[in-house]
Amino acid sequence: MRANVPTPTSATQLLRNRIGKVCVAIIGTTAAEMIDKANAVVKETPFLEFRLDYLEKPVNAIPKFKQFFADNTAATGIATCRREENGGKFSGSPSAEMDVLCKAALAGFHIVDVELESAEVLKKGELQKLRDTGVALIISHHDFTATKDLDKIYERIEPFQPDFIKIVPTAKNLTDNVTLMRFMERMHERANIIGICMGDAGIISRVLGLRAGSAFTFAAASQGEETGPGQIAARTLIETYRIDQVDAATKVYGVAGNPIKSSLSPIMLNTAFRRETVNAVYLALQTAKITDLLKLVQEIPIQGLSITMPHKQEIMAHLEKTDPLSAKIGACNTVLRAQDGKLYGFNTDVAGIVGPLQKRMSLHGAKALVLGAGGAARAAVFGLRDKGADVFILNRTIETAQKLARQSGSKTIKKEALAKTPFDVVINATPIGMAGQKASPLIEAKDLNAKLIFDLVYNPLETPLIRLARQQGIPFITGVEMFVQQGARQFEIWTGKPAPEEEMLRVVIHALRQQAEAAATETVVEPKATTAKRKKAS
Ligand code: NAP
Repeated sequence: MRANVPTPTSATQLLRNRIGKVCVAIIGTTAAEMIDKANAVVKETPFLEFRLDYLEKPVNAIPKFKQFFADNTAATGIATCRREENGGKFSGSPSAEMDVLCKAALAGFHIVDVELESAEVLKKGELQKLRDTGVALIISHHDFTATKDLDKIYERIEPFQPDFIKIVPTAKNLTDNVTLMRFMERMHERANIIGICMGDAGIISRVLGLRAGSAFTFAAASQGEETGPGQIAARTLIETYRIDQVDAATKVYGVAGNPIKSSLSPIMLNTAFRRETVNAVYLALQTAKITDLLKLVQEIPIQGLSITMPHKQEIMAHLEKTDPLSAKIGACNTVLRAQDGKLYGFNTDVAGIVGPLQKRMSLHGAKALVLGAGGAARAAVFGLRDKGADVFILNRTIETAQKLARQSGSKTIKKEALAKTPFDVVINATPIGMAGQKASPLIEAKDLNAKLIFDLVYNPLETPLIRLARQQGIPFITGVEMFVQQGARQFEIWTGKPAPEEEMLRVVIHALRQQAEAAATETVVEPKATTAKRKKAS
């Protein structure tokens, strides 16, 4: 039975041929600001949503948008004037929202977005008046708390027979993405569906949603201009995730952790896949629960995982088999999903530490000092021992160091003994030196007695320990080298191809420099921004 099912009109079909897969959401406090931003992106991405609710008086701004569409005939525009009640900024009534959208439609916007809650309270004929302008209609529903019964929402929207049905829940976990995507797979032949999960856990739906049947997806004009939680910048979606090329054959990989938002693994591994023309995409998988992750792995399915804090130990119990070093270390950072769905574990952190060292020295019989006794230190200690090095451990908590020494056949060392003990290599496997970390170093300059220094910390690019090595003329290895090496080995395990290490290194360094610049700008600008916010609030 297809009675009452909205069938796309020929106008909708025409529109579907005209619009792209990515719609860039444009915000600004004035029409001029929005149009400047639109002009900056329209050549690359001519499908734009103007958030008119961000303007103080949206109606007054309409003539400027009319001019924009006259000047940019290839552009397709959505007008949205979302009310405060529905997560927008427009304080007017649903009728006032209709008035803005009618005027926008007459000014050249091709599509208008009306929130379901507004549509449901409009007076008879108000929505029809909007439709009589010939504009295409999206009826949308946003849930900023969870992913609930999506069929129920569909049933509420369906009677309005819009051209597009937009359903945007919030992913509280990874599995919520699966719920949304299965829903779209079922429904996309009945209607033009747009589906996205908001939130850090929802990134999967932003990248894989099109494949599940979403008519298009939304992106931010740039980082920091997101109109919904978890929204990705258009350039990242197109260049890093290659959203235009994601199809049914695209293999899915990801990095699972909590938190994971600022991980550089997606930029590094997506770059590697692109460089080696592997039809694969790599996603950040924000998850607090390993069971949530395991369900996603089988449902999507996901072909391989990078595992990071805090899941490296817990994942071990769910693997069919691991390599011998992972078993000794008790931690795994790489998972491969076999054809039969079984999961195999590897530890490429070891190769990320041992590989760079072996390029510079022979480890057999070398005397190494490892600072720390956590996950990274365990990879270093077992990896070094495996290559025949003589390992000493110094850790804040002595008992943890003693346990690791016992397990690995190493020794512990006291801080006081450092000055008179020369080492071939000193490895920092603590977070000391990391951006935002204020702890004092485990090893002081006067005690540094090494031929080579390896700081596993990779953000900032130049840590205090690396600076010290540079000042004292001691050769050093940075944490970026480990990061790239462990990622390169993951790429090889998953694809069987050699990893494009130079390209991976280049993008990671570039991203770290950008992060450092952004942090420096924030520090300078923040006091002013805070003052401005306070003024606005008062
Ligand atoms: P972890 O398991 O939490 O272990 C942290 C270790 O650092 C523990 O031994 C801890 O000592 C010690 N520590 C923490 N805070 C300290 C402080 N304020 N003063 C002295 N010691 C302190 O973490 P992890 O996974 O081993 O990672 C450690 C660091 O390695 C990370 O911060 C990261 O920068 C780096 N890393 C880099 C890569 C890469 O690819 N380059 C990969 C993994 C890790 P206690 O036992 O006393 O708590």
